[in-house]
Amino acid sequence: MNERQEDGHPGHRPRKRFGQNFLVSPSIIRKIVDAVAPRAGDTVVEIGPGLGALTEPLLERLEHLHVVEIDRDLIERLRQRYPPERLSIHAGDALKYDFGTLKESGPLKILGNLPYNISSPLLFHLAEYASQVSEMHFMLQKEVVDRMVADPGTGDYGRLSVMLQYRYFMERLFIVPPGSFNPVPKVDSAVVRLIPKKVGAGGTADDPVLFARLVAAAFGQRRKMLRNTLKEFGGEAMLEAEGIVPTARAETLAVGDYVRLANALAAQARK
Ligand code: SAM
Repeated sequence: MNERQEDGHPGHRPRKRFGQNFLVSPSIIRKIVDAVAPRAGDTVVEIGPGLGALTEPLLERLEHLHVVEIDRDLIERLRQRYPPERLSIHAGDALKYDFGTLKESGPLKILGNLPYNISSPLLFHLAEYASQVSEMHFMLQKEVVDRMVADPGTGDYGRLSVMLQYRYFMERLFIVPPGSFNPVPKVDSAVVRLIPKKVGAGGTADDPVLFARLVAAAFGQRRKMLRNTLKEFGGEAMLEAEGIVPTARAETLAVGDYVRLANALAAQARK
């Protein structure tokens, strides 16, 4: 049975620059909404509602929903379709949106079939609000999800894995084939669940900015040895003092190792 809804968006030409691949598979839409499991009274935010493939079934379960959308044509359509007491439309770029303004309404459930071209920066932006979030569900390129959940020592393990695993429990829920979208993307997608951790993996980084800089430097040239990539942080001597082999490469260190290194550096800076 072909369950694609090809005529789901008459009059709207999908815009590549906004990463518009609209969901047209009712079974995938149902699976995502079931995974989110919204309950009346939840404060739910959808990023990139588009033509409402997820918005509509979410509003069947919720009295009210927040959405953040950048495309003016789509915003206008949403305005015509839903009254403001049901749908709060935050018009603009989700990368610049201050999710903190919604915190008074309670912990946030955030979800979205995300525009692929901004997925990593958006995940980093959202990480700033982790303490105000109860859970997030995103559709992303499968390759990005694989990087998010990768274990140390694997080719997929990188900056995204360390920075997100530090803040979230993450689980890849299911894979979504290209035929579930219109237009059809070239790659597989996957849905991932992120639940913020109360305390960071491997303890809490005393100086989160320093931690982020250290991780970025380590993976900046991932084939090089840490004694070279981390030269500005004390290189060989600093690694040895923390019990890390200076010839190791970034992908062999666990999240907790990065936290420990960053905390040792932060303690040194305080002396
Ligand atoms: N949720 C819809 C669906 O599943 O069919 C649309 C998903 S489409 C992959 C991505 C959506 O994000 C589009 O509606 C697009 O206009 C919107 N978008 C793209 N960049 C954005 C940004 N920087 N801020 C907010 N929304 C954005």
